[in-house]
Amino acid sequence: MAVAAPGQSLGRGMLAVGLVGYVIGALVGWWLALRLIPPELSVTVLGRTLHTASAHAHLNNIFLVFLLLPTVLGVEAAVVGWPRSSLRQLLFARTPSLNTDLTVFVLGQGHVLDIVGRVLMLGASMISGAWVHEAIRVRAGLDLGPPELPFVLQLPLYFAIYSFFDYWTHRIDHTKNFWPLHRYHHSAEDFAVVTSVRQHPAAFTAVFVVNLPLAVLGAPPDVMIYVNVLVIAIGFLVHSKIDADWGWVGRWLIQSPNHHRAHHKLDMTHPTGHFAVAPIWDRLFGTWYEDKPDPNLAIGVDTPYRHGVFVPRDMARDYAHFWLGWLGRPNDGPSSDFGIFRRR
Ligand SMILES: [Zn+2]
Ligand SMILES: [Zn+2]
Repeated sequence: MAVAAPGQSLGRGMLAVGLVGYVIGALVGWWLALRLIPPELSVTVLGRTLHTASAHAHLNNIFLVFLLLPTVLGVEAAVVGWPRSSLRQLLFARTPSLNTDLTVFVLGQGHVLDIVGRVLMLGASMISGAWVHEAIRVRAGLDLGPPELPFVLQLPLYFAIYSFFDYWTHRIDHTKNFWPLHRYHHSAEDFAVVTSVRQHPAAFTAVFVVNLPLAVLGAPPDVMIYVNVLVIAIGFLVHSKIDADWGWVGRWLIQSPNHHRAHHKLDMTHPTGHFAVAPIWDRLFGTWYEDKPDPNLAIGVDTPYRHGVFVPRDMARDYAHFWLGWLGRPNDGPSSDFGIFRRR
């Protein structure tokens, strides 16, 4: 049931409000992060004081992330043309599902909070990771890293480690008990770049979980930040309307938009695949599908969503479903019935 899109002038007005809110949100998030995170992250453990070098310099890099979205929207419009672009659709032809994406974005429940959350959780991951790293070095005499590698090689190394942990977090998201929170992301009926930020607010902890192993393995803070920037950029691209499978890159190194669409498939008659930002993990752990992904595949979930600008309703329902699942009560239809070790 389609809801009439608001008039074009209202659309432009909302976009202007959204963009102003976005810039203000970005500045506030940046300012807050600078205040909340000390210039030097340090913790004393076992009589030693650990430092991560100049945290504030790296926060400035995180601010770069806020330039990614406008960039990807521009690139997508250049590739697919203005009539099919997400930007035009967001401005003039929003569906209820897109209204949800945009609302999550404008409210700051997605991107802005996500980025602030990422900054804070990166800080938490760095401190606790450095603590574990040092404890292992002192107690077991084992230095886990970082390896003596130039930056250009550290980035792919730690991207591989990040994507490994991200892969398994994502597969856990698709198990029956965790699915209701991740389902909110999968409820999108179309991609429009910002769909990447459509996340249930209770699902943000993955950032901490995924980054912690990097810090334990001694990833330098700037490498951790660049890995996160790369992952956010890939997130925007795979939720774009670009029809591409990126050849061997999409088959081995970095997930393509068409493969991510296959991950979002509505049809649940066969198991879900393509969980990984780096397809190598899908290949190694049995969730890779060789079939050429269909750029016009229907996406979404069969759980009913009301969508639209009033997002708390669906979010609250999904949060309740999450806890009902842990209490052994039904929390969804058949679409959540994935076994974590199920192979095709
Ligand atoms: Zn998923
Ligand atoms: Zn997605």
